[in-house]
Amino acid sequence: MEEPAVLERFDVDRIRQDFPILTRTVNNRPLVYLDNGATTQKPRQVIDAIVEYYTQYNSNVHRGVHHLSQLATDAFEVTRRKLKPFINSAHEHEVILTKGTTESINLVASCYGKAFVHAGDEIIISAMEHHSNIVPWQLCCEERGATLKVIPINEAGELDMEAYRSMLNERTKMVAITYVSNALGTVNPVKDIIGLAHAVGAPVLLDAAQAIQHLSIDVQALDVDFLVFSGHKMYGPTGIGVLYGKEKWLDAMPPYQGGGEMIKEVTFEKTTYNELPFKYEAGTPNIEAGICLAYAIDYINSVGLDQIARHEHDLLEYATGHLLEVPHIRLIGTAREKSSVLSFLLDGAHPYDVGVILDKLGIAVRTGHHCTQPLMDHYGIPGTVRASIAMYNTKADIDALVTGVERAAAMLL
Ligand code: PMP
Repeated sequence: MEEPAVLERFDVDRIRQDFPILTRTVNNRPLVYLDNGATTQKPRQVIDAIVEYYTQYNSNVHRGVHHLSQLATDAFEVTRRKLKPFINSAHEHEVILTKGTTESINLVASCYGKAFVHAGDEIIISAMEHHSNIVPWQLCCEERGATLKVIPINEAGELDMEAYRSMLNERTKMVAITYVSNALGTVNPVKDIIGLAHAVGAPVLLDAAQAIQHLSIDVQALDVDFLVFSGHKMYGPTGIGVLYGKEKWLDAMPPYQGGGEMIKEVTFEKTTYNELPFKYEAGTPNIEAGICLAYAIDYINSVGLDQIARHEHDLLEYATGHLLEVPHIRLIGTAREKSSVLSFLLDGAHPYDVGVILDKLGIAVRTGHHCTQPLMDHYGIPGTVRASIAMYNTKADIDALVTGVERAAAMLL
């Protein structure tokens, strides 16, 4: 697999040509895809790689001596090799391939919980977590007799760092926090969060499901203990995700599931476990998705995360300014540090109705609680309309959104 050259200049029209789906229409209108927080579209490079895998070397990985199996194994391991510099992990074997963010968090909550969480201990999350970063910790606390603590947020949707400081103590066994909120767009001060947790000896898990495609992340510079994300939100396939863990934790935790690949030797009396990363990769993985995630990483690298972040930030500012001009609009999530998400309500209209009208205009947004029900409860709302931005979005997309919201306001209010 050749390394792609980095684009010299960010050219959104050129990028859009790589995403075949963006040329289709929906309800006889050009598609305006603003549901990237749910999943991103895939570039031709990723789609072609999927077809190539199934037409040229479909085979199981890590098992066969035959040619196709070796091709598939090599390609699968290329992804791990590319993920290492992408997040700057110290070792390749600290990169575990999972089904996605949800599985990665469940793995840590289960395995870390068994090894390190005991009755009377405390786990800290925040009020803006996705259900995937709440429920696994609730299960862990129930099983281990620990208590879940929740960092409150202010009206803008920023963490109350004073409250966080006062929650930390020697009983804190884990701090699990989202890097970027999927419902508000808040970018959390993760470096400070990690430093404060480490001062009481607690590790930190960062849910980077909404960060990895927007910001460049260096796990060593952050000194983060666990980092999790999904392939499908970063222009890659569904069914593949990543768990980065510091070697010392991954070595100390018990395995997650038993079965093929995670064993060294099995007898009926005793099983010994394989080395990292395979200790945590039981069973046949999603081979095609694992292989093709490398093409998504290449794609992101070829555009450059700094250029992507700049473009998306410009669009976010543009969209915020124009949406705020729409009568009866209320933005939910007005943090100083934000990335790529615009959540809003039209006062007096249900978000679902706004979403349906936008859909009629070919505009894809998300409506509802965004798997953050406690956060919606905090604001006393049933949900929001969420427009979420990716590298291929344009000012024309935002103009279409604003016009659509104006139409919805005229019809519903
Ligand atoms: N955390 C956050 C912040 C998310 O946005 C999502 C996806 N909406 C998840 C976790 C879960 O990701 P997945 O469904 O890919 O496991």
